[in-house]
Amino acid sequence: MAAPDHNTAEPWEPTSEFTWTDRAYDLLEQNLLHAQVDVVDGVLTTKVWGRCPRCAGQLHDVQVPTAVGDFAGTRGGGGWGSAVPEPPVVIVDVTCGCGVPHLDAPEGTTGCGVTFRVELVAEGAPPSTSVTP
Ligand SMILES: [Zn+2]
Ligand SMILES: [Zn+2]
Repeated sequence: MAAPDHNTAEPWEPTSEFTWTDRAYDLLEQNLLHAQVDVVDGVLTTKVWGRCPRCAGQLHDVQVPTAVGDFAGTRGGGGWGSAVPEPPVVIVDVTCGCGVPHLDAPEGTTGCGVTFRVELVAEGAPPSTSVTP
């Protein structure tokens, strides 16, 4: 089975139900979907590519999250305690970009409309707010 069957008959729907995030997580675990964080000169770039959790089309999403608030390290002194220093986690919302206009999609819109959330660990990221005094 070379290519996954892209379900282009799936009607376009702007959904961001958690189910799809959940599905995407499974796909990530199965290596059918990939997520990567690159940090070049302090600029963070996220890449998500692979199979759309909804329509199974191939998507390729590149984002430069500008909100530093995306870093988990920015949480103010909550009740977390500072036991384990973890690499910053970047959360990106990915919208299907399979490149195929789905049924009922607005003109000029491709993809099945799904938006799902991917958590990426920015291992090579610059130390977030929590490090060096
Ligand atoms: Zn899709
Ligand atoms: Zn599609």
